[in-house]
Amino acid sequence: AALADAPLPVLGHDVRVPLVTGGEVPYAALDYAASAPALRRVWDDVAAYAPYYGSVHRGAGYLSQLSTDLFESSRADVAAFLGCRPADQVVFTRSTTDSLNLLAAVVPAGTRVFVFETEHHASLLPWERREDVEVTYLDAPRTPGQAVRTLEEALAAREPYGPALVCVTGASNVTGELWPVRELAAAAHAHGARIVLDAAQLAPHHPVDVTELDVDWVAFSGHKLYAPFGAGVLAGRADWLQAGEPYLAGGGASRKVARRDGGGVDVEWHDTAARHEAGSPNVIGVYAIAAACKALTEAGFERLVEREQRLVEAVRAGLAEVPGVKVLSLFGDDAPRVGVISFVVEGWNSSHFAAALSAEYGIGVRDGLFCAHPLVRTLLGDESVEPGECGAPEAGPSLNALRVSFGAGTPDEHVERFVTAVGELV
Ligand code: PMP
Repeated sequence: AALADAPLPVLGHDVRVPLVTGGEVPYAALDYAASAPALRRVWDDVAAYAPYYGSVHRGAGYLSQLSTDLFESSRADVAAFLGCRPADQVVFTRSTTDSLNLLAAVVPAGTRVFVFETEHHASLLPWERREDVEVTYLDAPRTPGQAVRTLEEALAAREPYGPALVCVTGASNVTGELWPVRELAAAAHAHGARIVLDAAQLAPHHPVDVTELDVDWVAFSGHKLYAPFGAGVLAGRADWLQAGEPYLAGGGASRKVARRDGGGVDVEWHDTAARHEAGSPNVIGVYAIAAACKALTEAGFERLVEREQRLVEAVRAGLAEVPGVKVLSLFGDDAPRVGVISFVVEGWNSSHFAAALSAEYGIGVRDGLFCAHPLVRTLLGDESVEPGECGAPEAGPSLNALRVSFGAGTPDEHVERFVTAVGELV
């Protein structure tokens, strides 16, 4: 039973950090929501492959063939991990941000996009860049049911329309709260709209099955799913991806390029995932994502979810004991959430608090507005916040927040140290 409840081995948790108060402690990485440490198993798999990597789709040699095979079998592994439908495409990108920008680039002209103002900037901002797309921003809901009603009303109010797309997060990167994805998908489809799921925070904490959730696309990042930086995924319906202009123009995306009579070139583009994967792909990053997907599945994702929920409850209970700590939530303090918890401490500048956790306890959390400025402002109830760069700690006391986040690799000790540290600092 003890083994079944053990965290998965990850890199970086044995790093020792000096404390200003003297001595040193093992680093407590409690900022998984920004980037999770890589699983040791992913590292081992990548290290075993690294001596053999070669160009993908671009070479006749043995190592090129091997790399091409691994690249394509990684696509199949990711499709299996996501429960993709047979006709779905898995496109490899650089990140969730890249995936959502890619989808925004290919949505048909005239598409109506519906997005909650509570989204991460990666889900909120790409649509506005298309001048031929109309974006409807939906108010922050205060319950999951209200989210569904708000969406239904907005969809109904704008009918009839041609193509329409709803973009929604599966788990908030600020509150960690789970959004009612299945219900939102049903509402979207009932009104003839499609839905893309930003699973950047959901996929590392919960199995995501696009067939079961009935979402049209899903996006996530490798570096939050226990793989390294530099690779991400957009998976889902092929039609809009096939009809849209290639995301990048270049080799790999083009099937045939010929000189045009009278000057210029005629291009015939691929209509598979390759259409949006121009240039030499990040085969190591992609292989690492597939390794992470397999590692999570083999470890028993449900058991990891249960374990993480135990840690969530420990943090919730611990913070509830500390006077002046306010946990941020849209759907209520008891709403189901993944291992992502934001809070403010009365009388403290969140940046100073985060600095003290680091310097005095060797704990790494995040402070700021978490690239979701409208949501954090709503939660803090202060419309006057003028943040600097994404997350820069320029705001004054309580104008930004703290976020503690954890996952499959987090030992109990990190969470316990965190709760103790918050109490001691207060
Ligand atoms: N969506 C959500 C919900 C996120 O938390 C993040 C990362 N914080 C992103 C999108 C963007 O991910 P990336 O920075 O890997 O592109």
